[in-house]
Amino acid sequence: MDALLRKYQCKLEQAGLVEPGSALLAELNDELAWSRPDGLQEFFRPLFERLAINSFVFIRPSEPYRLALDELCAGAGDALRPQDCETRTFLHDIPLVPAGDFEALASALSGRKGAVIRGVGVAAPGAVSLEQGFVTVSSILFASFVKIFSDALVRQRTGTLDDARRRVLERIVRLSPPPPSRAPKLAEGPFGDEISARAAMIEAGREVVRLGLVDSYFGNISCLADGVVHISQTGSSLDELAGVIDPCPLDDSSCAGLTASSELTAHLGIYDCGEAAVILHGHPRFGVVLSMDCEREDCPERGRCFAHCPEQRFAAGVPVVPGEVGTGPTGLCHTLPPALAHHAGAMVLGHGVFTTGRQDFNEAFRTLLDIERASREEVLRRLGLGRGRS
Ligand SMILES: [Zn+2]
Repeated sequence: MDALLRKYQCKLEQAGLVEPGSALLAELNDELAWSRPDGLQEFFRPLFERLAINSFVFIRPSEPYRLALDELCAGAGDALRPQDCETRTFLHDIPLVPAGDFEALASALSGRKGAVIRGVGVAAPGAVSLEQGFVTVSSILFASFVKIFSDALVRQRTGTLDDARRRVLERIVRLSPPPPSRAPKLAEGPFGDEISARAAMIEAGREVVRLGLVDSYFGNISCLADGVVHISQTGSSLDELAGVIDPCPLDDSSCAGLTASSELTAHLGIYDCGEAAVILHGHPRFGVVLSMDCEREDCPERGRCFAHCPEQRFAAGVPVVPGEVGTGPTGLCHTLPPALAHHAGAMVLGHGVFTTGRQDFNEAFRTLLDIERASREEVLRRLGLGRGRS
């Protein structure tokens, strides 16, 4: 099999999104290469004539994603509409098409990055690279997981969470163990030079992805060494950071317009007003779910809370702040630094978790895991599901 096809097949399997050997990937070079024979190959092949694409990914999700997706599809019309920030920005909505209907699939994929084929799986082409399809199918499964719990919390508050849905949630919980209580042992700081700082970032990034604390592989990481903030580039895979880390002097944000993470300004602000030496940002799923579960039904900012939440909220022991990616007036560069000045971690509403370490990534990683474990427990407690704990 072609090396790229194999690479993304492995990534899907390592993330637990598919059963080994079950993903179907295709890439068009001189000719169209498929990762393996599959009964659906002939069904998908005409997409390469119909759409301006050079690659394609199709997966039959493994559990608990299949369960979540099937349940969401059963009650949905022609699309799923997730509310978490990354998905809203990246995917908008997720079209649902009937099984066996090529026209419906081609038309959905001409307007969206990916689509769910009801009861069959998730399909996503790439116009430039195979990586695009990989990111899209991963994001659709992440969004489905977050949405089924977010919807359940809303139903619980309105007294409309029925027994059938509750039973499905219980099965999903049983199939989604909590993250480990013990953090991996990472390089010890402080890091005084570029080489050790970058090596520590590469190691921490790989572990964040390995432990599933991300949506596909997105997030960002930085490390302050000798007055320079080393930060992952925007859109980089956290598990492949070698060569995609930018140096930005702490007193000069002029590299912000280039390739550095879109959240560079927030990172600079955090270093500026606290004692952090490293920053870790992931998108752990229960943290994202919990950050969106607001108790206030009469909130005047309902629907705009991602940018404008007026409450001083805490969840899983850390502050929950609003804030949009970027440097605008409602950017998280204004909300995160003050929150992290007094706490080792903070959640950005509907988006993800930021943690800091005063020496190295060990502390930041422990805090990220603790927040995700506490978020899972709290979500399950609010839903009255099982004991949450394990
Ligand atoms: Zn993020």
